[in-house]
Amino acid sequence: MNALYYKDVIILARLLKCPICSQFGAKEEMVRETDKRYYHKEYCHGKYLRDREATRIETQQWDDLYQYIIKLHNIVVLPKGNITRLKDLRAGFEVKSGKKSRKWRTGPDYGLMLEAYELARENIRWCIVNKLDGSNDTRAINYGMSIMIDKLNEAFARRVAWKRQMERREIDSETKDTYIEEIKYISKKSTNNDISDFI
Ligand SMILES: [Zn+2]
Repeated sequence: MNALYYKDVIILARLLKCPICSQFGAKEEMVRETDKRYYHKEYCHGKYLRDREATRIETQQWDDLYQYIIKLHNIVVLPKGNITRLKDLRAGFEVKSGKKSRKWRTGPDYGLMLEAYELARENIRWCIVNKLDGSNDTRAINYGMSIMIDKLNEAFARRVAWKRQMERREIDSETKDTYIEEIKYISKKSTNNDISDFI
């Protein structure tokens, strides 16, 4: 009885908890990652890699947006109030039976906000000089942010159009390759036939 108990403990010790699905798995069925944790080879490891890549892109886009805004307003640090507004916009909100709840990454991404800022750039600069008396405080940055938000739909439409154009270009190049291959194939075959006919 004691021996069996000891064996069970060994088996349990070999099992590792997967951070994605919270289930235990045998070491052989898992992959060790750079965070020293083990993930199931099937599904969980793939999900971990996708999530990690999404976070990397999110961080990069946030950094780019932050740098853009501080340069645009000629400041060194973005005020907390402005950061909160951007983060809330990115998170998105859902209203259910009159109750507002914060979501996670459902709003426009930071890359799109940057594209909208670029579309609004001249307008914001004009407003800073003519309406905001050259100020660059939280209120002035918020004002610019509202102009950017008005440009989000246009930035999104541009992104969709650009994506479609890229896809069309890809299809075009694929069709071209197939066409060349077919011609080569036919000419080779016909040459062989010609020779065999001759012999
Ligand atoms: Zn798992």
